Amino acid sequence: MKLHEYQAKELFARYAIPVQNGVVIERPQQVEGIALTYPLVLKAQVLVGGRGKAGGIKLASTPDEAKRHAAAILGMQIKGEKVRRLVVAEAAEIGAEYYLAFTIDRPARRMGVIASAAGGIDIEEVARSTPDKIARGTVDPFFGFHPYQARQLGRRLGLGGSLLSDFVAVATALYRVCVSEDAELVEVNPLAVVTGRPFDAAGGPRLLAVDAKVILDDNAVYRHSGLPKNEELTELEAAARAEGLSYVELDGDLAIIGNGAGLVMATLDMVAHFGGRPANFLDVGGGATTENMKQAIEIVVRKPGVRGLLINIFGGITRCDDIARGIVDARSPVDMVVRLTGTNEDEGRRILESAGIHAYVDPQEAARRVVALVAHGA
Ligand code: GDP
Ligand code: MN
Repeated sequence: MKLHEYQAKELFARYAIPVQNGVVIERPQQVEGIALTYPLVLKAQVLVGGRGKAGGIKLASTPDEAKRHAAAILGMQIKGEKVRRLVVAEAAEIGAEYYLAFTIDRPARRMGVIASAAGGIDIEEVARSTPDKIARGTVDPFFGFHPYQARQLGRRLGLGGSLLSDFVAVATALYRVCVSEDAELVEVNPLAVVTGRPFDAAGGPRLLAVDAKVILDDNAVYRHSGLPKNEELTELEAAARAEGLSYVELDGDLAIIGNGAGLVMATLDMVAHFGGRPANFLDVGGGATTENMKQAIEIVVRKPGVRGLLINIFGGITRCDDIARGIVDARSPVDMVVRLTGTNEDEGRRILESAGIHAYVDPQEAARRVVALVAHGA
């Protein structure tokens, strides 16, 4: 589960990692009531990176400017995500930008640590263009991540003096966040050298977590009762969830329904293989009833731009006759191709055929057929 920047920073603050204090707003007018000293930074809260480049992060030196930026950012789309919330904070005076992250290193079967003096830009980009600017290591889970290890890492980034001490404090605290919160990733990009606010300028430059990205292990969410519920579902996804269907919107025009996550994924691949563009993933689950099937069809065809529907059912505990009744009841408004096989197949097939619907046995044939229908309709 991904956390929003403001949520990740609340977490960081609990572990004494320095962050800016911000205010979360949802409407541009709320800027007026904010008791912070200008210049401010306004930051779109969406669960994708690269907000700065997309225009989702702006500095404002006056209330007018802040309001204008807030109005522009709230409601904008960043990589397909609509901005519903903004964080407003006192802008930090940023000097150098570093990168620091802990993430699961699967081949090493432990947490890995990645740090770079080339922060503020995508680490993938740094890895491509200047891989020697990245320092890496892994953490022995039994030994932990100790200050001397953080110090070695910090020195490799060229840090010294009080900034090196800051780095040690931030890095060891970030590792504690990982372990205590069951995080798969904690990333600070940029971890910035700040000469003034939010710190006391007289104290010299210090490190500040200007950005915060945290992904928690879904399997461990139950262990952390205080966590936010952060799945940003689309309207259709929420409707499907309420019906107990697992549905994910995609950006194509060919709706897909199947039973079992593996079968649905394979169906998406087949459709893509034949040149179609899946509009969604929908798994009606095991033992789906007539009503589940009907609801599933009604949900997938509600997505704007859907021009075809492929239903791929392999009856096990799910019965083909139940499914067939749901298909007939729902009356798909778009071209539909059905593949049906397994438990009570003959009965299911009879029900479909009496409604004038042919059922395929071979899923590939069905996928090819529906892709052709949609292409033909275009
Ligand atoms: P991202 O684009 O989604 O990674 O968002 P970030 O929070 O990393 O912000 C992108 C960039 O905006 C940073 O690398 C900074 O250069 C700049 N930025 C963000 N917050 C501040 C701030 O408080 N003060 C200043 N001067 N720049 C900021
Ligand atoms: Mn960033």
